[in-house]
Amino acid sequence: MFKKINLATYSSLKIGPIVDVFIINEIEKIENTYIIGGCNNLLFSNNPPPLAMLGCEFDFIHIKDGRLHVGAATPSGKILSFAKKNNLADFEWMQKLPGTLGGMLKMNAGLKKWEICNTLLAIKTANGWVKKEDIAYAYRYTNIAETVFEATFAIKEGFDYDALALFKKMRENQPQQPSAGSCFKNPPNAFAAKLLQDAQLKGYRLGNMAFSEKHANFLVNLGGGSYEEARKIIDIAKERVFAQSGIKLELEIRIIDTISD
Ligand SMILES: Cc1cc2nc3c(=O)[nH]c(=O)nc-3n(C[C@H](O)[C@H](O)[C@H](O)COP(=O)(O)OP(=O)(O)OC[C@H]3O[C@@H](n4cnc5c(N)ncnc54)[C@H](O)[C@@H]3O)c2cc1C
Repeated sequence: MFKKINLATYSSLKIGPIVDVFIINEIEKIENTYIIGGCNNLLFSNNPPPLAMLGCEFDFIHIKDGRLHVGAATPSGKILSFAKKNNLADFEWMQKLPGTLGGMLKMNAGLKKWEICNTLLAIKTANGWVKKEDIAYAYRYTNIAETVFEATFAIKEGFDYDALALFKKMRENQPQQPSAGSCFKNPPNAFAAKLLQDAQLKGYRLGNMAFSEKHANFLVNLGGGSYEEARKIIDIAKERVFAQSGIKLELEIRIIDTISD
């Protein structure tokens, strides 16, 4: 089954064409197709590869045999609400971090030392369960190469309202315009936002795309921004930061073009 999705409204950056996305309703191997979640970390060209996403069968969360089982299509907000309701710790950082479980796992999403892989136990792929020990992960990286359908997490009691308040505060400098979160990863021992600021890129605008005045590492769409403008401003930023600091910035946002990562 296919579903028509307008990426210019669905994706958080509000860029992309209207596409037919294959909806995966059962656990199966999907070949030559790029899997999307909530598209909160993706910049689409006008000609993306064939796309697929998980159907609502994979949007679930429950406790079974002392583990938390979560479907990979489950949104972060639903996981956070479940954790609050059931007094579970270690999911507070999901507040205002948009995404589905599958996207969060692939990206090892998180905030500072709080990352989704910390409490992960295992993921379910078309080849069966894969234990965390067999997954390589680091800051905004995992080597997950297959579609994730479900994952299990360790259960620890004690939802932390102080942590929730802290995470809320940490997001106060987050721009309100459409973005895909941080544009670049923080290089070792440096901050991408500071490097961009030092290269006079805070507030820098190209067409309708800009590095936010509020947070230099947020590439924002000021309204009607295009893929071409986004690519150009990203290239300018990489060049200027390298010229200024000798540091090569690495994208956190994923660019989805005909030939993708
Ligand atoms: C305002 C804002 C704030 C943000 N703040 C943060 C933050 O603080 N920390 C942070 O880490 N991120 C942040 N992000 C980025 C984004 O929230 C995360 O990257 C999130 O994990 C994306 O989830 P998604 O479902 O939208 O994935 P997508 O953007 O749809 O996809 C991301 C990657 O996951 C893969 N993927 C998706 N589903 C599956 C699946 N089922 N199986 C295997 N692979 C899959 C995709 O192929 C792609 O490579 C922010 C984004 C926004 C817009």
